[in-house]
Amino acid sequence: MQRRDFLRASSLVALSLSPLLAHALGTDTVQDLPQTPKMPVLFVGHGSPMNAIENNSFRQNWQKIGKELPKPAAILMVSAHWLTDGNTAIMAANKPETIHDFGGFPDELFAQQYPATNSPQAAQLTADLLKKPLADGTQVKTAFDLRQGYDHGTWSVLLPMFPQANIPVFQISIDYFKPASYHYALGKQLAALRERGVLIMGSGNIVHNLEAEALEAGKPYDWNQAVDQKIAQLLQKHDDQALIQFADKDKLIKLAHPTVDHLWPLFYALGAKHEDDQVRFFNAAYAGSAISMRSVIFS
Ligand code: ZN
Repeated sequence: MQRRDFLRASSLVALSLSPLLAHALGTDTVQDLPQTPKMPVLFVGHGSPMNAIENNSFRQNWQKIGKELPKPAAILMVSAHWLTDGNTAIMAANKPETIHDFGGFPDELFAQQYPATNSPQAAQLTADLLKKPLADGTQVKTAFDLRQGYDHGTWSVLLPMFPQANIPVFQISIDYFKPASYHYALGKQLAALRERGVLIMGSGNIVHNLEAEALEAGKPYDWNQAVDQKIAQLLQKHDDQALIQFADKDKLIKLAHPTVDHLWPLFYALGAKHEDDQVRFFNAAYAGSAISMRSVIFS
């Protein structure tokens, strides 16, 4: 992926302008979110945007999980489809638009809307948490983005999961060229949101190679199964360091992820989980030959 794809800084404002954020979000003051029992953390394999409306098992499981989860005060999505270069943008529009960021799908999909609103409190708390230096001293560059709407990695999952759209939702972008260890460190930084009622959700795919998908539909490739199984094993063992090494260094990753956009959301969820969280898989199945839909709840 080329760096020029990321030249879209015009709607970003520096983090120090937080009164501007408050204004954009339609509020004068940003109240603290109350303390809550620890919320689960999710990583969701989203696959085709059609999963938003097709009556298949992936969507049915999203519907089921939405009913089982404790109702969040807000949802923070980290989606494969919002990438930046050099900073982490925080969604600051009051009512983010639903973006139909794809082509070649039926009109019914383009007609879908997810009319949720932002959470000023959760967006501000996220900004505050990201202001603190990471464990290795790195200072994360952040900015509020006043224009960004919900991408399909976000709304295609939330539409079935929380169809009423009555829970505030916001996103942060993925600073694409950073390594797995960096995304993991940001996830750790954000873990405190779980005790403020915020459901942290990564949306990508554990294996995602659309070029290979076009060549041979059907049975999953050996490397698809190998990567899916390896990641599942390491998740179950809570071996985060081995997972980071695998993502950053293993040769199989090049096959599973020619570009790593769909892999990085997993590391935000991984960073936000605790050692003592239970690991539960759902949608552990392949969509065609080169996509794994394996998804995980840490709770
Ligand atoms: Zn996607």
